[in-house]
Amino acid sequence: MTDPGLCGRCAHARIVASRRGSRFWLCGLSRVDPRFARYPALPVLRCVGHVAGAPATGEGKGDIHSEAEQ
Ligand code: SF4
Repeated sequence: MTDPGLCGRCAHARIVASRRGSRFWLCGLSRVDPRFARYPALPVLRCVGHVAGAPATGEGKGDIHSEAEQ
């Protein structure tokens, strides 16, 4: 898996999986702030939205498969 940089230790990040087994880093801030890409180019080296914390895995939060393939 690609080094995610800051996303790997950001509370806004979420790891989502596609049906084919690929995994993506999703930025939760993208839902409320257009400055942030839904799937940021990795590794993210600088980010004004970064909040130290553990990324979520996405499990139990709805259909992660369709979300990763939009
Ligand atoms: S706020 Fe920045 S560091 Fe955090 S998940 Fe989004 S792009 Fe990554």
